[in-house]
Amino acid sequence: MINLLDIKYLGALLRSTWTWRLLRLAMLGLLLLMIAFGWHQHAIPGVAVRDPLMYTNFTTFNLWVLWMMGMVGVALIFGRSWCTLCPVGWLNGVASRFGLRRELPQWLQNFIPVTLVLVLLQLLVYFLAIHRYPDYSAVLLSWMLLLAIGGGLLFRRRSFCLLFCPAGALFGLYARLAPWQLRVKDTSVCAGCQDKPCIAVEPVWRQAALGQLRLHWRTRPEGCPVALVPAQIEDSAACTLCMNCVQTCCNDNVGLGFRGWPGDLRKSGLRPSETLFFLVLLGLLTANFAKVYVALREAIFFVPESLALALGWDVAGFYPLAVIWLGLIFPLLLLTPGMLVYLIGQVRVTTLADAPSAPPHETAVTPTFSGSTLIRLIGQMALPVLPLVLSAHLALALVKLNAKAGYLPLILQDVSGVKSFLAINVMQTLTAPGVLIPLDILKWLVVLLLVAGFGLSGLAAWTIASGDSSEKTAFDKPFFLAALVSVMTLVAFYGSTVMEWLFVR
Ligand code: SF4
Ligand code: SF4
Repeated sequence: MINLLDIKYLGALLRSTWTWRLLRLAMLGLLLLMIAFGWHQHAIPGVAVRDPLMYTNFTTFNLWVLWMMGMVGVALIFGRSWCTLCPVGWLNGVASRFGLRRELPQWLQNFIPVTLVLVLLQLLVYFLAIHRYPDYSAVLLSWMLLLAIGGGLLFRRRSFCLLFCPAGALFGLYARLAPWQLRVKDTSVCAGCQDKPCIAVEPVWRQAALGQLRLHWRTRPEGCPVALVPAQIEDSAACTLCMNCVQTCCNDNVGLGFRGWPGDLRKSGLRPSETLFFLVLLGLLTANFAKVYVALREAIFFVPESLALALGWDVAGFYPLAVIWLGLIFPLLLLTPGMLVYLIGQVRVTTLADAPSAPPHETAVTPTFSGSTLIRLIGQMALPVLPLVLSAHLALALVKLNAKAGYLPLILQDVSGVKSFLAINVMQTLTAPGVLIPLDILKWLVVLLLVAGFGLSGLAAWTIASGDSSEKTAFDKPFFLAALVSVMTLVAFYGSTVMEWLFVR
């Protein structure tokens, strides 16, 4: 690992508590500005367009274009590094040091709450189009701040990140691939460390001295906000890169920096509840990717649309059906061919020395394939599929940023977005910002991204099937073939969409 903390001035900057405090305060200020500039901005009186401020307002532009799309690129290289700066998680952690410090119930310590929040957000997008309106976006951000402070005052550690932040769960998935990690340098140093300040949460006395003057106060260290023990970190999914352990380690034994690929893919698959989160993400992302290919989009939505029609439900009934379909059944169908290949690969045909003691129909059959086996299999299959999913996500982000980032100068001049919209669309004194990269170049960049994702997925499948070289396990051919089939199924979806959208239309 290339440890950036060992680089003279950069290391000192990264270790400093004040670097991160100031950056997080700046981010908090930006968040409060987004709430202020979006509040009460819904439409423009006298303008018939329903959502005129979608791209010209400071709040909607920053939240749904710059942050939502830009963060995918950051996650590609730096994993969960956004969490280092995130003002919401930081406020949650600060509040948790002064509140009731209850332990989060065990039944909430999984990915189910955050998966439900992702589903709820999708429903809010369907029903209210919150991503199109500054005031709705400002209310969403305000709720996030309230939940972060409220959750912090009630529970110890970062309950908001675990319960309410799908972004953190998404970054955790992509962090397994990113060439970036935080790890202890030498586990034997940790084993011999008596005080373990990196995880300590008991109150301590501090002193500030100026000449003869002494100021004492009692404070409670945050410890690791997600209850990790740095020496035991096996993958980069859970670490929020808050830098607490870097700053508190008394042996300078924590490193942060670049690592080789394929990151944490050799480790076991996803946990069952994280598998559920992955499925919902896969379904929503794939449907979102395919929406520019009308025939494919209609095919994807055929079942929920037909069901809603048959039941006589209007859009209020269709949307929940669509979310259930996209979040659970559709992604399971996408992975079914691969899982079937894996199951077929498990069939073993052997020659028996004697006839079985009972005719086949009388032989008791012990079922060996259960729901938990299925979830575990999907959790393992998710890892080789992840690079391709990330590349599709990046392609979506690139296209959106390319089309809309040109609005940034207008937004800096007019934060409400009203004047910009009127100048472009009513008075026509301004032309709408164009794309940054011409379409002829962009389409090849998108193809390149998908090809890279496909190649890395194939490599990941090979790496996982090869197992740990130190344990000398046999190459898992059924898993490799199954992973390839799953990857090819997704390639068919993403590839046909790109062909239709960028090359045929
Ligand atoms: S998990 Fe979410 S709320 Fe927590 S620090 Fe990361 S982005 Fe922020
Ligand atoms: S392991 Fe260290 S950097 Fe990661 S969340 Fe815990 S304290 Fe923060």
